Amino acid sequence: MVTSKPHAILLASPGMGHIIPMVELGKRLLTHHAFHVTIFVVTTDSATTNSQILEQTSNLSSLNIVNVPPIDLSDKLPPNPPLAARIGLTIVESIPFLRSSITSIKDLSPPSALIVDMFGLPAIPMASELGMLTYVYFATSAWFSAVTVYFSAVDEKIMETHAESREPLLIPGCEPVRFEDTLEPFLSPGGELYEGYLQAAKDIVAADGILMNTWQDLEPSATKALRDNGILGRFTKGETYEIGPLVRTIEAKPEGGEKDAILRWLDRQPPESVIYVSFGSGGTMSENQMREIALGLELSQQRFVWVVRPPCEGDASGTFFNVSSGIDGTLSYLPEGFLGRTEGVGIVVPMWASQAQILEHPATGMFVTHCGWNSVLESVVNGVPMVAWPLYAEQKMNAFMLSEELGVAVRVKEEAGGVVGREQIAELMRRVMVDEEGVGMRSKVKELKLSGEKALCMFGSSHHSLCEIREACEVHLQSSDTKLSP
Ligand code: UDP
Repeated sequence: MVTSKPHAILLASPGMGHIIPMVELGKRLLTHHAFHVTIFVVTTDSATTNSQILEQTSNLSSLNIVNVPPIDLSDKLPPNPPLAARIGLTIVESIPFLRSSITSIKDLSPPSALIVDMFGLPAIPMASELGMLTYVYFATSAWFSAVTVYFSAVDEKIMETHAESREPLLIPGCEPVRFEDTLEPFLSPGGELYEGYLQAAKDIVAADGILMNTWQDLEPSATKALRDNGILGRFTKGETYEIGPLVRTIEAKPEGGEKDAILRWLDRQPPESVIYVSFGSGGTMSENQMREIALGLELSQQRFVWVVRPPCEGDASGTFFNVSSGIDGTLSYLPEGFLGRTEGVGIVVPMWASQAQILEHPATGMFVTHCGWNSVLESVVNGVPMVAWPLYAEQKMNAFMLSEELGVAVRVKEEAGGVVGREQIAELMRRVMVDEEGVGMRSKVKELKLSGEKALCMFGSSHHSLCEIREACEVHLQSSDTKLSP
C-alpha cells in the first residue's frame, strides 16, 4: 500500500564495520521515527551477507533488506588493491542494480532520501537524479567528520606543512590532529590517496545533510563547530546531525534457547573480572605480535576472552572483507602450551565472537580494542574502560580521544621493531583492571554511558536530530513531484 510515510534507502558498503551501523540506523528510523526503510547491502562475499548480523534483524519484518548480488572484481583491479579502492569499485559496479531496484519500488511511498556511508558516495548523483534527498552517514566521530569537512576546503599548503614539518593539523573549533595520529591520505599531499579523499570530502559537504554516530555531550567542541552556525558549518551545504550512540542491539534468545558457550562461561565469572580482546572485523596481527599478546595475557594473571585470527604479516586489516577466511581449524600459531596453561582462566575464540553480547555482560571488565568506532561505542554504552590499540583508518584519532581527552582508556605505546612486548601489554591490563587508575576510568566511562542514553531518549539531542531528518523528508515528499521512473 502506498503511504505518506517517508521512505529512506540506506546503502551499506562492504565490511562488517560498515554494514552494522547502517543496519542499526535503519532499525532506529523504522522503530522510533516511523520511516519505511530499505537497506541495500553491498558485499564482496556471500558469507558476510548470510552472517548473523542480518539474521538478527529478522524480528523486524518491515525492515526491507536487499542483498546486492556479489560483484566479481577479479579482472578489474590489480592483485591486492588497497581496501578503499576495492570497496569503491564494488559500489560503482552496484549502481545499475540499485537504480533499477529503487525505480521499481511500487508498493511503498517513493523513496525520499538516500543515506550512504563514505564509500557509498558514487551513488549520490543517481539519487539526486531520481529526486531524492541525499545524506552521508559518518558512522564515526564528529571529530573525524570535522577533519573531513575542513579538508574539503583547506589550502594544500597547510596540508604540506602538516606532512613535511609534522606539525599538528589545526582544525577550527576542534582538537588539533597530531602528526602521529594523522590519516594516511594526509601523508602525501597531491598523491592518489590524498586526491581521492579530497574528492570524497567535497562530495560529502555537497550532500543535503551529514549524519554522525556520536552525541553532543561526548564531543561538545566538534559538534558545535560543525553546526549550521558553527565555524565549520559554513563549509557544508546541509545540516550536520549527531544521531548516536547507535550500537548493535541483539535479539533476545527465545525462552529456553541455547546460550552461547562464551556467555555461559562469562555467567560463572565475577563481575567486571574478564578482559575482552578483539581487533574488529578486519584486524590481524603478525605471528610475533600474537605471541606477545598471549604471553602478556598470561603475565597479567587476569581472566580473558580473546578473538584470534591466523597471523597476517604486514596487513593490519587482513580480514576486513571476509571474516570467515583463513579458518584452518587449529590454533597452532599460539605459543606452545598457552591453551593448556590458561584453561579455565581464559577463552580463545577463532575469528568472530558475539562482541555486543560479551561487552554487555556484567562479567566483562575491560576491552582491548583496535578503536574501530563501533567497538568504541559498544564499549562506552556498556560502561567498559579500554586499552586502545589502534591499527588503521582513523583509529589513532579515536585512541587519542579515548585516552587523552575522555580518560576512559590507556593507550598502547609503539615499541622498537614494531611489536608491542608482553610486559607492556600485561602492565596496561593491570593498570585498568587492578590499579586505582582503572577505578577512575571505569567511573568516567559509566558517566559517558549515561550521557549516551540521555541523548537517545525522547527529549535527547540525538533523538531530536532524527526527528529533524524525518521532517525534512516529509516536506520533501510533499513538495516534490517524484521523478522516479525507470
Ligand atoms: N564484531 C563482532 N565480533 C567480532 C569482531 C567484530 O561482533 O569478533 C563487530 C563489532 O561488535 C563491531 C563491528 O564488528 O560492531 C566492528 O566494527 P568496528 O568499527 O569496531 O571496526 P572495523 O571492523 O570496522 O575495523
